[in-house]
Parts: sequence; C-alpha cells; structure tokens
Amino acid sequence: MVKIGVMGGTFDPIHYGHLVAAEMARSEFNLSKVLFIPTGIPPHKDRLDISAGKSRLEMVERAIKDNPAFECSAMEIERQGPSYTVETLRLLSKIWPEHELYFITGTDALREIFSWREAEEILTMIQFIGAARPGFDAKDFLQSVRQDHPEIVDKIHYLEVPALAISSTDIRMRVKQQKPIRYLLPEAVRLFIEQKNLYR
Ligand code: ATP
Ligand code: MG
Repeated sequence: MVKIGVMGGTFDPIHYGHLVAAEMARSEFNLSKVLFIPTGIPPHKDRLDISAGKSRLEMVERAIKDNPAFECSAMEIERQGPSYTVETLRLLSKIWPEHELYFITGTDALREIFSWREAEEILTMIQFIGAARPGFDAKDFLQSVRQDHPEIVDKIHYLEVPALAISSTDIRMRVKQQKPIRYLLPEAVRLFIEQKNLYR
C-alpha cells in the first residue's frame, strides 16, 4: 500500500518547523511523498490579516522546491468558503483510493482534532502523525484518547522531531519588529517576504 503524507496549514509563512516535521514523518513512516496544502479561509483561525492564498502557496512552492518527495496543492485556496479538512481528505481519498493517507500535524493541532467538523469520519479515513512541538506535550492527549476513543488509538502516531521552537506567529512578529528571520525558514521564502513586504 502506497502511503502519502498530507500536511495542512496556514503556512503564513512556511518555516523549518513544518519542513523538518514533514521530512521526519516521510522517512519514519515510509511515505512516498508529502503533499503540502495551504488552507483557504481557515475555520479555526481568527486572524483577519492572513496573507493572500497566492502568496502562501508561492512560499510553500519555494520552500519545497529542492525536495523531490514534497509537493503542494492549491485545492484548498481555490475552493470557496472555509477550508474543512474533512472535505479535502474526502477529495484526496477519491483521487487516491488505493493509498493510505497520513495527516501530519504538530501536537498543538493534534489536540484539536476532536473539535474538527466530522472528526469521527476523518478518523476512520486516515492515520494521524502528531509531530512533537515545544510547549505542547502530547502525553495527556494520547492518554485521554486511549480512555475516551479507544477505537482510534492505533490511528494516531506520535513522532519525536528535533525540537524546533519555530512558529509563523513568531516569524511575523520578528518581521514587524525588524528582527532577523534568516535561518528560521528557507532563504527563498525570506526573500519573498522581503520583496512583497509581508508582515510589516
Ligand atoms: P501560526 O503561528 O500562525 O499558527 P504555525 O507555525 O503554527 O503558524 P501552521 O501553519 O499553523 O504554522 O501549522 C501547520 C501545521 O504545522 C500544524 O499542524 C502545526 O502544528 C505544525 N507545525 C507548525 N510549526 C511546527 C513545529 N515547529 N514543529 C512541528 N510542527 C509544527
Ligand atoms: Mg499554528
């Protein structure tokens, strides 16, 4: 069975935390590729100043260029209305009915999956990989899943990644405060942010 990783996110901007998590998941779970899908209008984010989908997509394209196992899709930013992961996953399982999908998230996002729309349905369709994220201990969460949802516990995998305390929020703040962001994200993405005057 061919396994495909899916990484959704706002990617505003994409950074090395995302890329390291995706690469470690790819190798650890033998994924043949990882598909990055920038969200359209994220249902869970109340940020009003989110960058245009086109810019976020271009940053992802620039960031993944040198990894032949990484791809990206504009399917969510091209869709009307809020992005619900369940719709995306349904579409993907139609496109790849023979494949096994692994949704890669940080442990912060992993803890929210039960608040997602049609969470149970999503959990029957795919596997989850929760990548450790500094400040978000997954142990309590995994313990509560074991108690409250024993039927899906083997669909949730935990992945230890070299701790990267990088977040898009922090990068946006640094740009605003004219602090350096070099080495937190690929240089091609940093240059795009500079050219387009993002996050000022
Ligand atoms: P923001 O600060 O705007 O929320 P973010 O850095 O959390 O941005 P998102 O686009 O929200 O990035 O994240 C997309 C996915 O990547 C989420 O599942 C998130 O948990 C995961 N992720 C983000 N940063 C890291 C990191 N440093 N290590 C592991 N996973 C991460
Ligand atoms: Mg986030």
